[in-house]
Amino acid sequence: MSDAVSPPPHFVRRTRRPGTHPAAKGKETELGRTRRGRRINRMLAQVYPDAHAELDFTNPLELLVATVLSAQTTDVRVNQVTPELFRRYPTAEAYATANVDEIGEIIRPVGFYRAKAGHLKGLGEMLVDKHGGEVPEDLDDLVKLPGVGRKTAHVVRGNAFDHPGLTVDTHFQRLVHRLALTEENDPVAIEHAIGAIIEKSDWTMFSHRIIFHGRRVCHARKPACGACPIAYECPSFGAGPIEWDEGAALVTGPEREHILDLASGEGEGQ
Ligand code: SF4
Repeated sequence: MSDAVSPPPHFVRRTRRPGTHPAAKGKETELGRTRRGRRINRMLAQVYPDAHAELDFTNPLELLVATVLSAQTTDVRVNQVTPELFRRYPTAEAYATANVDEIGEIIRPVGFYRAKAGHLKGLGEMLVDKHGGEVPEDLDDLVKLPGVGRKTAHVVRGNAFDHPGLTVDTHFQRLVHRLALTEENDPVAIEHAIGAIIEKSDWTMFSHRIIFHGRRVCHARKPACGACPIAYECPSFGAGPIEWDEGAALVTGPEREHILDLASGEGEGQ
């Protein structure tokens, strides 16, 4: 996980007392929030240089199918069933003509397998009928496919077709609220609010970085505040344990050492 680029000066370890961030006291201007959001994005780029969609895929159809399956379950679980699924159903036509029960048997471990199997068959049929068997790039076309909402459509557009998009999932919602980057609650309103802060060219990567941070450091129940590399920029510092040892014990994932290096300030100058 070594990164040739030196971490920015933000990673010199600095702390605040919980509740003392200007944004936590309602004293942040709109411009201040935009600047802070962009600083956070730059810092997260250093923390997670390899941030990416954690679903395995090799083409737009595989990503679309994997994303539909990922509703209400983990990417790890989806990645366990997709090798066999993709081998058996390599094209939209294959899903369109498939037996729903047979799809269901393969995807059973991801939960809601009957409904999801129906979505995959319906999705194959619609791709064949309306899009020549190809996955469309247009947001309006994507959200009309069975089982495909705005979040799924953005995942596919951003990662299979390189159209910038913000993926507002539960991690993303929790993080942007903790970071006080928006007060909006509706996913589309959140998308617009964050879209106004973060540069468009970075929307897809910002989503990956935020989701990586939510999975590894800023956990839903017990965030690792004491060892969080962006703690100084976070008005919610103190939502989890603020002591170094306790925070460090909560940091997970293959990048753990790199995260702790930056959070401790020891990444500075590497
Ligand atoms: S872990 Fe704590 S300090 Fe870091 S982003 Fe989450 S709430 Fe903020």
